Amino acid sequence: MLDIAIIGAGPAGLATALRLHQKGFRPKIYEAAPELKPLGVGIDIKVYGTKEVTELGLLEEFQKISVEAKDSIFYTGYGQEIFAEKCGKHIGYDHEQRFVHRGRFQFMLLDAVKQRLGEESITLGARCKSFAQDADGVTITFEDGTTARHDVLLGIDGIHSVVKKQLHPEATRTHYSGVAMYRGVTVMPAYGNGGMILHIGDPIRQGSLIVYPIANDEDENGNQLINWVCEQQGKPKGLEDWNVRVSPDEIAHVFDDVSLDFLDVNAMIRNAREVYVYPLIDNDPLDQWSFGRVSLVGDAAHAMYPRGGNGVCQALVDARVVADKLATIADPVEALKAYEAERREFVNRLVIANRGEGPEVIRRMVEERSGGQPFDHIDNVIPRQEVEDLFMEYHRKAGMKRPDDAKTALKEVFTEDNSRRVAAKADIR
Ligand SMILES: Cc1cc2nc3c(=O)[nH]c(=O)nc-3n(C[C@H](O)[C@H](O)[C@H](O)COP(=O)(O)OP(=O)(O)OC[C@H]3O[C@@H](n4cnc5c(N)ncnc54)[C@H](O)[C@@H]3O)c2cc1C
Repeated sequence: MLDIAIIGAGPAGLATALRLHQKGFRPKIYEAAPELKPLGVGIDIKVYGTKEVTELGLLEEFQKISVEAKDSIFYTGYGQEIFAEKCGKHIGYDHEQRFVHRGRFQFMLLDAVKQRLGEESITLGARCKSFAQDADGVTITFEDGTTARHDVLLGIDGIHSVVKKQLHPEATRTHYSGVAMYRGVTVMPAYGNGGMILHIGDPIRQGSLIVYPIANDEDENGNQLINWVCEQQGKPKGLEDWNVRVSPDEIAHVFDDVSLDFLDVNAMIRNAREVYVYPLIDNDPLDQWSFGRVSLVGDAAHAMYPRGGNGVCQALVDARVVADKLATIADPVEALKAYEAERREFVNRLVIANRGEGPEVIRRMVEERSGGQPFDHIDNVIPRQEVEDLFMEYHRKAGMKRPDDAKTALKEVFTEDNSRRVAAKADIR
């Protein structure tokens, strides 16, 4: 049985350890942090991510710490509704879409690793500095000068991966979008039906605000933990740390014009428990992940804009595929090549697609066509069929279901319910 080393105990490293364990391996995880803390704010686990969590045997635990997504609604900067659609099982997928706190999701995986592989499977305070491989194995050197020898090394050490830097000294440039993300969480009463993701504002005049709940019963009053992300153009680059805190006052004023009858956006931002600023960055797609007995998984392989949950969900898929190949192909070098062959091109396309606006483009289109003014009726600004075609295409590109099935499933929803805008509104009130 191969002796496998994992560098990094983020969501991807832990999920990979669990997948390898399901295949009978006993991997060893090396994590740089001397102590793991549940850091970060919200992540959006798409239907295909929930499928992976289910296969890890963790659906029940996941449901306890997360919130089911029911509706996704788009608003202009004045709070006028543009479009609404159902999410997850409510639109005909086999799995739920759920929202969760990144740190709590990581700790759910960590607990499972400790239970299934034992506490001793994780070494904390072990920062990988470099590695050297030969025909029989890989020797890892840590910052403190100690070394470890394994048959295979998986670099799962995030966007600033040292394993990636050693494999690709020239090609790990950070791609900066020119946009800063303010990411905050606020403890407050649930809005609407308690499972809505709101896409508010126009990207031209005002900037974008995305809001969704990530935990129920956050306090003794039954409040939810609400996650919000505000994107603003033209902020300086250079802050590439997930943990830079700022005051909510920096951005609360941006949404003064927004008027929603079921959510006080301004109060939500001002009352935030914590706010972080992070540049919208990714890495250019890599032309190779696997080099002999070493390969890359998760953000180390394909850091993409942290929009829409694809980063973490794709990492969960990586975890399954790499474990499967190592279990079924006897030669680890061939197994890692097969893993890359199945994953790299598909994910690279997603990295590039993620740089576009995805379905969020609808808000820009409405802003441009309405001249940035409030409208009388949305149908006078953009024909409904055009919007539905746009969303259909987005679902297809995200690969969340086989295109033919997805098309049929969506079509049924569209014909049975002529106006989901009305349906979603009915849910709110
Ligand atoms: C502190 C933090 C907060 C985040 N918050 C959010 C968020 O709010 N929303 C969002 O969408 N995404 C967030 N992310 C990114 C998100 O976790 C990833 O995009 C996704 O989950 C894929 O995870 P990953 O395990 O590949 O990478 P990461 O989550 O980045 O995990 C990488 C792990 O590797 C460890 N590591 C790094 N270098 C070394 C080394 N040399 N040796 C050993 N270990 C090393 C890190 O300490 C970390 O634990 C955050 C990441 C971090 C690190």
